[in-house]
Amino acid sequence: MAESKNPNPMQDIERRFPQIKPLMNNSEAYYESSRCLFCYNAPCMLACPTSIDIPLFIRQINNGNLTGAAKTIYQSNYLGNTCGKVCPTEVLCEGACVFTKVNIKALEIGRLQNFATDNAITTHQKFFETPESNGKSVAVIGAGPAGISCACELRSAGYTVDIYEAKNNPSGLALHGVAPYKITNREALMEVEFLREQFGFNIFYNKRIVTKEELDALDARYDAVFLGIGLGNSAEIKIKGEEKLNCVGATEFIEQIKTCPVEKPMAKKVIVLGGGNTAMDAASESARLGAEKVIVAYRRAKSEMKAYYFEYDLAQVTGVEGLFNVAPIEIMGKNEVAGVKFIRTETVDGKLRNIPGSEFVLECGLVIKATGQLKQTSVIAKVKGIDMDEIGRISVNLETGQTGNPKYFAGGDAVNGGAEVVNATAAGKLAGKGIQEFLSKSGQ
Ligand SMILES: Cc1cc2nc3c(=O)[nH]c(=O)nc-3n(C[C@H](O)[C@H](O)[C@H](O)COP(=O)(O)OP(=O)(O)OC[C@H]3O[C@@H](n4cnc5c(N)ncnc54)[C@H](O)[C@@H]3O)c2cc1C
Ligand code: SF4
Repeated sequence: MAESKNPNPMQDIERRFPQIKPLMNNSEAYYESSRCLFCYNAPCMLACPTSIDIPLFIRQINNGNLTGAAKTIYQSNYLGNTCGKVCPTEVLCEGACVFTKVNIKALEIGRLQNFATDNAITTHQKFFETPESNGKSVAVIGAGPAGISCACELRSAGYTVDIYEAKNNPSGLALHGVAPYKITNREALMEVEFLREQFGFNIFYNKRIVTKEELDALDARYDAVFLGIGLGNSAEIKIKGEEKLNCVGATEFIEQIKTCPVEKPMAKKVIVLGGGNTAMDAASESARLGAEKVIVAYRRAKSEMKAYYFEYDLAQVTGVEGLFNVAPIEIMGKNEVAGVKFIRTETVDGKLRNIPGSEFVLECGLVIKATGQLKQTSVIAKVKGIDMDEIGRISVNLETGQTGNPKYFAGGDAVNGGAEVVNATAAGKLAGKGIQEFLSKSGQ
């Protein structure tokens, strides 16, 4: 069939970024599940932040009970499908699988999880019943993994939940940030729709809650408020020339290619500044979009990178090169980026220092800054009683998610400073339970 002249951007993205963990077929799932030893006190389950009963759901898949398997997963983790696709399983469940101790390939737990949950989602199964409304209502700010998970937990106990989301889609960074070769936009959105059908929470889109008046209005209307606002835009690196065209933040770059891909061809040479997982994603994505040379430049040694080893491997497979112990000091060019001036660094007595006279320039047409995201401190500061730590993370009681203002709860990236989807999901569920406890005790 001839390709449409006006391609659907979603299909276009799926074509450009084939999935690295594609859906298993029936035979693959049967054979893979047959390998499981169904361990007692299973290490894979202990390594899962949401404690999914992994041996149980794998056994259910092996017995052909796909509905039971999906139910087992969703009872522990409301974003079971998304997590199966995007979790760093190599360092969580699969990394803990007993087979790795004897150098045998771990069970493909993530892909088995997707096999079961994809079946539940695409066949529109309904296995959660929500009780009659208990007359109490909760506002959730942010429809990312933390907010969605909190909403599911509260709805399952009869609370009315309204989610206020700044963007025009749910799923937060699972949609706008996670690399498109890990999960498709369609999959991320389908799971939230599946959950909405199961639990019946409301989502109001294009509703960014920022002003004191907006926050006060929610305070007056709801019995409790959950803050699942995640983090903000990419942080600046504060060097000369940073404002030039084609010097962009990693999260904004990734969001752009995932939601509104531009026709403009990719720059031939790209420099990504940073050494974390986001830097690896941005570099891999640039290479997959056709950049001929992609360099990840990190100011410390390779061994000090925060990125998981497998994320760096994945980037290298696409041709990405690493450049270590270099710090950017200026973005070169007139109006547009033409290169980056670096200075070499070394660690002396545990302290990183620049090596005088070691400056050099590398040419490029695009600079991607992957040096962290800002915290949303200005919104948080508008609610009386909520404390933040010295780097702007919301302080909460780790067992309930409750903030210093008893009516407000928080979880996910806004609290942990940026972790994984599975951590945000776990935190949302925990806060959902914390809110229930608070509202039942306070008699509100
Ligand atoms: C580039 C990138 C790649 C990543 N890749 C992975 C990966 O491969 N695997 C993995 O597990 N994790 C990955 N992560 C991390 C993961 O996406 C996050 O940890 C997770 O999404 C955090 O969930 P959250 O709900 O706390 O916040 P978010 O996902 O950020 O969701 C917050 C939501 O709140 C909304 N919001 C914010 N402020 C307001 C406001 N004032 N009013 C209303 N709405 C608001 C936002 O629009 C957003 O939808 C990645 C992160 C990034 C940046
Ligand atoms: S550790 Fe591996 S073999 Fe044991 S239950 Fe988990 S997946 Fe199965």
